[in-house]
This record gives sequence, structure tokens and C-alpha cells, in this order.
Amino acid sequence: MARYDYDLFTIGAGSGGVRASRMSARYGARVAIAEDRDLGGTCVNVGCIPKKLLVYASAFRRDVEDAAGFGWSAPPPSHDWRTLIRNKDAEIARLNGVYARLLDEAGVQRIAGRARLVDAHTVAVGRETFTAEHILVATGSWPTLPAIPGIEHAISSNEAFHLGALPERPIVAGGGYIAAEFAGILHGLGARVTQVYRGPLFLRGFDDDVRSHLAHEFRRQGIDLRFDSAVVRIDKASDGALHATLADGSVLEADAILFATGRHPLTQDLGLEDAKVELLASGAIRVDEYSRTSVPSVWAIGDVTNRINLTPVAIHEGMCLAATLFDGRPTRPVHVNVPSAVFSQPAIGAVGLTEARARARYGAVDVYRTAFRELKHTLSGRDERTLMKLVVDAASDRVVGAHMVGDHAGEIIQGIAIALVCGATKAQFDATVGIHPTAAEEFVTMREKVAPA
Ligand SMILES: Cc1cc2nc3c(=O)[nH]c(=O)nc-3n(C[C@H](O)[C@H](O)[C@H](O)COP(=O)(O)OP(=O)(O)OC[C@H]3O[C@@H](n4cnc5c(N)ncnc54)[C@H](O)[C@@H]3O)c2cc1C
Repeated sequence: MARYDYDLFTIGAGSGGVRASRMSARYGARVAIAEDRDLGGTCVNVGCIPKKLLVYASAFRRDVEDAAGFGWSAPPPSHDWRTLIRNKDAEIARLNGVYARLLDEAGVQRIAGRARLVDAHTVAVGRETFTAEHILVATGSWPTLPAIPGIEHAISSNEAFHLGALPERPIVAGGGYIAAEFAGILHGLGARVTQVYRGPLFLRGFDDDVRSHLAHEFRRQGIDLRFDSAVVRIDKASDGALHATLADGSVLEADAILFATGRHPLTQDLGLEDAKVELLASGAIRVDEYSRTSVPSVWAIGDVTNRINLTPVAIHEGMCLAATLFDGRPTRPVHVNVPSAVFSQPAIGAVGLTEARARARYGAVDVYRTAFRELKHTLSGRDERTLMKLVVDAASDRVVGAHMVGDHAGEIIQGIAIALVCGATKAQFDATVGIHPTAAEEFVTMREKVAPA
């Protein structure tokens, strides 16, 4: 008779929890997973997937405009938001079903409901309790909205995916990647967007050239960027209009105010104190390099640990955990050279160190940078430039950072990331033959170092 009901009990069926559970079951473990919302977590329901579908939707306007220079003519396009949201919802429902099937096929027991730790080996879901040798907390994160007067009139990204109509004059508050992506989505679909950010330049953490290049492109498109500013108060007028008071006292009128001002780890009301699981000052669960918490039988992965909050990272942490617990291979997740994209328009792709971080770490750094008009835009007439940048450790010649702003940046940087993981040198980039005519070939043809400032 087994000592516990399960070998692994996972709380949260999002990106990390599902993968850890499926892999653990594949290694022979008896696994259960509890979820109190829709299967697939943030990424599938209110994150990466619906977001990218909306990005695709909004990009068609550009495509139609660009087509004119190639001889196409068409009546001015119009867009139906309800069709988009209905089709998006149908696809998300299909994915929820795929997740259910994947878990069932792996033999993972699905339990619907909100789970709570009772002690180091016990979880309660509703009135039922379950015991497990190992408990995995993979509860993700949730949008953080500031406590300003009138915040109840604002929405977060969660609600933005379910609006009844496209707002005509939205304000997007925030300077992270989600804010930049929504500014692009709403602008592309035809809204007059104002983006408000409290710092001097958005997208903190990305390379400074990338940040200023995207700001320039946003402004050129007509997105009203207000940096060094913040929404400090919201009032709703009798006609339903929203009045956003900014820190300088000016007032903007809007029909929707989307706050994308950060997310916090979902650790509240989880029973973590009862089980004596320690938190960091940020509210994230403290874990060691194998994702083990302060309680030896409790583990945590994904956004709730606030390491790198991306779906592939949560999945990677889940795979490493399954190998550690049930395949006899203690495996630490790797958090360096993690590539990422911002699906702004134009998009950002980045891997490795920014120039500033590389200078801080290596001292002597060579920088290669190019900004050019893509071939397509010679006929489309679109006044947009693509930026590419390589950061090289001068002593070893290793490429330690690659950055891009331009169409397909995520697709291109994914390949470059392999080179960085392999420790490629600038000489090896130079020895690589380009694919012509592409934008990507610029990454292997940059020869002139940027003169030090
Ligand atoms: C708008 C937006 C866009 C994004 N775009 C991208 C992108 O393009 N690329 C990318 O890589 N990442 C993106 N992300 C981030 C990505 O979604 C997260 O990093 C990822 O989902 C984290 O996975 P997770 O397993 O840690 O948590 P989640 O996927 O959030 O899953 C946690 C699950 O736990 C459940 N849960 C919580 N508490 C309990 C409880 N007590 N009992 C039972 N269940 C519980 C939740 O309901 C949820 O389903 C985006 C996020 C947002 C918000």
C-alpha cells in the first residue's frame, strides 16, 4: 500500500504545471493536477496565444496598406471585433480540450477546484484532501493594478481579451512588453492609442538602442507616447467617457484604460504559511536551483517563482523538475541566454546581454549595429527601419548579445539564440554565409564596429 495518494500533486494547470505533470507521469509517477480555472493557464487563456492572434489580426491593416505599392487596390478595409473575439475564443476552447486530452492520455488525474496546502504532504481541494510525496506549486501570476482613485473603471490584460467592442480612444498604462504589445494591437485595429509610462523610456531591461528605436517607430505610426507620466486618477463621466488625470495634472479622455503595469506571483491564500513555505520580499516563492522550496517536499516553478516569466521557461523548469524527481537525473533549469520577443509592431527579438550589461560584465565590448529599410518597403513606401545589433566580448570574440527590431524578429532571434548557446564567436558569425535577400542576413554581414561614444 502506497504511503501517499500520489507521487506528485501539482497545483495549477498552466504552462509549467501541465508539462511537469505530464513528464512525471511519463516517468512512471502517479500524478494529480488541480486547476480552478481553464486548463492551459495564462498563456493559453489570457496570454501568449490570444495575444498573438490579436497581433496577427491587427497586422492585416499594414499588409493592405503595403499592398498598394505592389499594384493591389481594394476598398478601404473594415474590421469586425466581435468576429475576431468569437474566433479567438473558439480556438482557445479547442486548446483547453487539447490540454485535457494530453493530461488524460498521460494518465494524470485532473481535479477541478481551488487547491490549498494543508501541510508538507497534504493538499485540500474544496472538502477533499489528498496526500502526495511531492507537491508542486505552479500557480502563476496575476495583473497588478495601482491603488488610484477610480481604478475600478480600468481593465487589465485579462479583460482586454474579452471587450465587447474595440475601444476607439484607449489609454494603455505601463511600459513593459504587454503594454507595448497591446498599444500595437489596438493601434493596428484602428484605435487612437495613448501609451503612458512613468519612466523616461519604456521596455526597461531591453537594450537601450532597441527601446529608443521602437519608441521612434511607435511615434512615427501615430501612437501617442507619454513617458515620465502616470495615470493618477480616473473619473467616469455621465456619458460613460473616462477621464484620466495624469501626474502633471493634464486630463486625457478615453473609452478604455488598460493597465499593464506588472504582475505579482499568485501566492495568496494557498496555505503556504501553514506548510512553512518561505517567500521572497517580492512575494515570489523562494526556490533553490532545482526549484525546491524551503520545505523539502514542496517545489515551485514558473511565474510564481518570478525567475524569468515566460512560457518556455516555465515548461523548461517543469521538464527539469520531472527529470529530477522521477527520472533519477537531478537537473537544474538554465536561465541564461533565454531568447525573448516582444510582439509589438515592429517586433523585438533579443537574446543574451544588452550592451550596458555586457559592458558592466566584460568591460571591453565591441558593438555592431545596422538600421536599414527592408526590401519590401522600397515598393510599399512604408517609412520604417529595421534595427539589428550584436554585442561582442572583445577579449574572447564571443557574441554575448543579439538584438533586433523589425518584422519576424522573434523568428530570426530564435535561430541566433542557438549560436549564442553554442558560444559562437563574431568570427563564426562572419564565416556564416547569408541567405539573400533577407533581413536576417544582416546578422552575418555586419563588419563595422560602432565607434565608442
Ligand atoms: C498578456 C500576456 C501575454 C504574454 N505573452 C507571452 C508570450 O508571448 N510569450 C511567453 O513566453 N510568455 C508570455 N506571457 C507569460 C506567460 O503567460 C507566463 O509566463 C506563463 O503562463 C507562466 O506559466 P505558469 O505555469 O507559471 O503559470 P500559469 O500559466 O499562469 O498557470 C497557473 C495556473 O494555476 C492556476 N491556479 C492558481 N492558483 C490556483 C489554486 N490555488 N488552485 C488551483 N489552480 C490554481 C491558475 O488558474 C492557472 O491556470 C504572457 C503573459 C501575459 C499576461
